[in-house]
Amino acid sequence: MPQDGGQQCVLAAEVVQQASLAVVRHMADRIVVLYRGRVMEAGPAGAVSARPLHPYTQALRAAAPVADVAEQRRRRAERQHLVRPAGSLAAAGPDACPYAARCAFAAPVCVSRRPRQVAVGPVQLACHRYDPDSGYSLPGDAATAAGDDREGVA
Ligand code: SF4
Repeated sequence: MPQDGGQQCVLAAEVVQQASLAVVRHMADRIVVLYRGRVMEAGPAGAVSARPLHPYTQALRAAAPVADVAEQRRRRAERQHLVRPAGSLAAAGPDACPYAARCAFAAPVCVSRRPRQVAVGPVQLACHRYDPDSGYSLPGDAATAAGDDREGVA
C-alpha cells in the first residue's frame, strides 16, 4: 500500500483479461504489474496505463479489447511484434528474466540474468532494456527503450 494511503492495484494476466489498463487506472492510484509472481512494472496508474514501458505491460495493453475496430486491428498487429511465439526461445535458466520466453525483445543477457528494478521517471521496471548497466543489446532494437521511452515517462 502506498504511504499516502491511496489504492494500489496489483495486476496479473487473469485480471487484465477482464479489465483493461485504461479501466484499472480509474480504480487505483498505483498499478503493479506482475508476471509469474514477480513485479515487472510499478508506478502511478496514469503513467503505467497511458504509456506502459515494460514489454509485458505493453502486450497486456495491446490485448485489451477496444470498441474502435481500426484501433483493435492496430493493437492486434502491435501485439504480434511484442509477444514471442511460445516455444520459440531456447529454455532459459533459473536466473533468466521471468518474461524472456514470451518477450520479443529478449536478448542474450535476458536468458542469463534476471533484471533488477530500475527507475524510469516515476515508474519502476524490471527490464534489461531500461538498465544502462545491464549490457542489453539486441540487433535491430535501436535502443528505443533507453532513448525515447525514458523521456516520455517523466
Ligand atoms: S529483461 Fe529482456 S526478456 Fe525481460 S522483459 Fe526486458 S527485454 Fe524482455
